[in-house]
Amino acid sequence: MAQTSTIQNDTKAAEEYAARVFETIKQRNPGETEFHQAVEEFLNSVIPALAKEPKYEANGILEQLTEPERLISFRVPWVDDSGAVNVNRGYRVQFNSAIGPYKGGLRFHPSVTGSIVKFLGFEQIFKNSLTGLPIGGGKGGSDFDPKGKSDAEVMRFCQSFMTELQKHIGPDTDVPAGDIGVGGREIGYLFGQYKRLRGAYDAGTLTGKGLSYGGSLARTEATGYGLVYFTVEMLEAAGETIRGKKIVVSGSGNVAIYAIEKAHELGAKVIVCSDSAGFVYDKEGIKVETVKQLKEVERKRISEYVIIHPSAEYYAGGDVWSVPCDIALPCATQNEINADQARALVKNGVIAVAEGANMPSTLEAVDIYHENKVLFGPAKAANAGGVAVSALEMAQNSTRMSWTFQTVDEHLQNIMKDIHKNSSNAASEYGASGNLVIGSNIAGFLKVADTMIAQGII
Ligand code: NDP
Repeated sequence: MAQTSTIQNDTKAAEEYAARVFETIKQRNPGETEFHQAVEEFLNSVIPALAKEPKYEANGILEQLTEPERLISFRVPWVDDSGAVNVNRGYRVQFNSAIGPYKGGLRFHPSVTGSIVKFLGFEQIFKNSLTGLPIGGGKGGSDFDPKGKSDAEVMRFCQSFMTELQKHIGPDTDVPAGDIGVGGREIGYLFGQYKRLRGAYDAGTLTGKGLSYGGSLARTEATGYGLVYFTVEMLEAAGETIRGKKIVVSGSGNVAIYAIEKAHELGAKVIVCSDSAGFVYDKEGIKVETVKQLKEVERKRISEYVIIHPSAEYYAGGDVWSVPCDIALPCATQNEINADQARALVKNGVIAVAEGANMPSTLEAVDIYHENKVLFGPAKAANAGGVAVSALEMAQNSTRMSWTFQTVDEHLQNIMKDIHKNSSNAASEYGASGNLVIGSNIAGFLKVADTMIAQGII
């Protein structure tokens, strides 16, 4: 009896601590709704760990963790093909370096703001910790839109962006990679300018590079493949299999394409993919080679899929989550599944949702999955395969070696298995069996928080 009431007291104290920190964050970062959302989910999840160990509050860990070590914002001027001057804004948030150099992608999309970069950088701390590799959390980007720009315009933008960013990055300090709008082409231009300005071949400063200049085999595939490996783990733990399942994927970019490819390889059928203008429904199964050609080579809209495969259907502006499926893999962007869309998925019989994109489900949508016993793989666990293989790319760069595709893929499979196991074990240990949101947040948090305590107040 006495022990029960102590636990209740500790939980109440932990809830009050988390609530105080959250209030300060809202006041200090007004209007940054995406950042608030990411922090709120995290704080609610780690309450059992805070209740168990008062040292986190005594050391002010939440206050330190939620304030970036550094936030850089800079002007990016560039000249377009007509000769006009354009000005965009660049960002890099260096959120936490307790367990390794800052690591996280760059996003080029008109929606990028300080709030978006901070939510992504914050999530990245715990995702990177979960991989078991020595990488801290960072993220960056710009409100530049590569869509519709010529290669020469993208190159001039990347050169201007890197001229400022290079002051802040390096193989042992901060290692950017790709994200939305930043793929192989952009990484190539960014690396070229970095090399030129530094006068040295620091290949380990950027990941996602081309294979001829220090890139890793299987990096392109890693996030999508890793997402499917994680989904398989989640299904198997519940006595299910991916074979024969009908899957809806949102997006048709890097993560979506390789999730489709691996899902098909493992015997599932992906019937939908999308872009920001609409979605394609192909009851025979999406032809991934067509999507690769349209998106990776020709940079066209997904609507053109039905010109090549007339038996498929295209829905302009349609809602992918209205299509009945067994498994949903959101692979486009944040907050793409709201409460109504989550309810529609449940009504149509979805058994699992695993997040390829970062924070694609709203907090309300996640509650609906849990209330309805839908298996749920949160982004920081399910999409960690990309950054994990980026860290393997860094390892190859520092030893000047290249591993085979099979070696990297085996590492990736083991890492995704471990992330699932560690998240699942943490959930059980802290009284939330089966809840991978709580499990992944706590597992990621403990390593970072304990390391911060070991390193002192810095
Ligand atoms: P890409 O730029 O390759 O593809 C993004 C896809 O999502 C495109 O189909 C795009 O459509 C669609 N999309 C983007 N923004 C929106 C929007 N606001 N509304 C609707 N659709 C949208 O990006 P990635 O595949 O690399 O990234 C997708 C998600 O995965 C992001 O959340 C990213 O943070 C996350 N992620 C990526 C990793 C990686 O290794 N690349 C690693 C971990 C997470 P359109 O072309 O029409 O804009």
